[in-house]
Amino acid sequence: MRKEYLLTPGPSQVPADVLLKLAEPVYHHRTPRFKEMYKSLTEKLQKVFMSSGDIIIFASSGTGAMEASVVNIVPRGKKALCIAGGKFGERWSEICDAFGIAQVRMDVEWGKAADPKAVADALASDPDIVAVYTTLVETSTGVENPIRDIGAVVAATGAVLVVDGVSGAGACEMRVDDWNVDILVVGSQKALMLPPGLAVLTVSAKARALLDSVDNPPAYYFNLRKAVASAAKTDTPYTPPLTLMEALLVAADALVEEGMENVFARHRKYAEAAVAGLKALGLKVYPERPAAALTAVEAPAGIDAEKIRKIAKDKYGAAIAGGQEQLKGKLLRMAHMGYVGPMDIVIGLAALEMALADMGVDVTPGSGVAAAEAVLRSG
Ligand SMILES: *Cc1c(COP(=O)(O)O)cnc(C)c1O
Repeated sequence: MRKEYLLTPGPSQVPADVLLKLAEPVYHHRTPRFKEMYKSLTEKLQKVFMSSGDIIIFASSGTGAMEASVVNIVPRGKKALCIAGGKFGERWSEICDAFGIAQVRMDVEWGKAADPKAVADALASDPDIVAVYTTLVETSTGVENPIRDIGAVVAATGAVLVVDGVSGAGACEMRVDDWNVDILVVGSQKALMLPPGLAVLTVSAKARALLDSVDNPPAYYFNLRKAVASAAKTDTPYTPPLTLMEALLVAADALVEEGMENVFARHRKYAEAAVAGLKALGLKVYPERPAAALTAVEAPAGIDAEKIRKIAKDKYGAAIAGGQEQLKGKLLRMAHMGYVGPMDIVIGLAALEMALADMGVDVTPGSGVAAAEAVLRSG
C-alpha cells in the first residue's frame, strides 16, 4: 500500500465532491441544461477572477489558451512584448516564434520579478507593440510578478495586457478588472482544483476590440473571436468539455462561497508557513518575490535536489517538484495552491526534513514543521 500526497505545482489535489461530479452521466451540450450550467459557471468564474469580461473555455491544457491569446491578438506587422523570466515566461516567446509573430523579448533574470518601469520604456520605444505578455506566478522559479503595477503601465497605452495565471489565479491575489488585465489565462489543474484538461480565459472589452481587428488569425479550434461570439450566446463553437465544466462549477462554487479575499489570505498564510519552515531547515528561498501559490528553495550546497525529492516521494509519499531546465537538481518546489490545508504544509515539510536527514544533511527533524506550525497557529 502506498499513500501519496500530491504537493506539486500542477497537477494538484482535487476535492472529493469535484471528483464525484466527474462520475456523473454525460448529457448533450446543445440543450438548455448545458446553457444553464455554462451561464452559472461564467458568473462564478467572473467572481473568482474579479472580471466583468467574457469567460472562454477551451478543452486544452493551459498552453492552448496561451497560444490562443497570441495568435488571435497580434496581427501581421505588429509586435508582442514577451516578458521571459523563467520556463513559462519563455513560452510566450516560443509561441510567437512558432507562428512567426514579431516580438520584443524582455529577458528577466530567473528568480527575479518583471520591472514595470522596463515595460513602460519598452512600450514607449516601440509603437508597434500591441500586446504585453507576462506571468502571474512563474512556476519554474516561484516568483510572483507585480501584475497590478504592470497593468497600470499597460492601461495607459493602446496595448493589451495578457497574463499567464495558469498556476496563480485562484490562489494569489488577482483582480482582473481593477488591475487592468485584458486577458487572463488559467489552467484547470492548478489552483482551480480540477484534473488537467481545461483552460479558461477572461477577455476584456479592450482585448475584444483587438480581436475584431485581426483578420484570418492562424487558428481554427483556438479562434478566440469565434469563441467570444459563441459565449455571448452562452454557447461554444465546438463540443465543450462539459464534464470538466460541471466539475469546475463545483470548485468555483467553493471558492466563491469561501470569498476570494479569504482565499487570497489563506494562500498567503500557507506561503508564509512554508517559507518559515523551509528557512528553519537552512534552505534558501530562491525567488526575490515569492509567490503565494508555491515556494521554491535551493537545495543545500553539494546536494542534488532530485535525490531529496526521490526520498521524499518514494520513502515518505510526498510528491514535491524539482527545478526545471537550468535549475534541475538545484531547486525544490512545494506547491500550496488550491485544495490545500494547513496539514499539507506540515506534511511537505516533514517529508523534506526527513529526506534531508536521511541524506546526512545537518537538520533537526521537526524544526521545519515547528516553524511552520508557529505561523499556521497564529491569527
Ligand atoms: C502549468 C503552467 C502552464 C501550462 O501548462 P500546461 O501544461 O499547458 O497546462 C503555463 N504557465 C504556468 C505559469 C504554469 O504553471
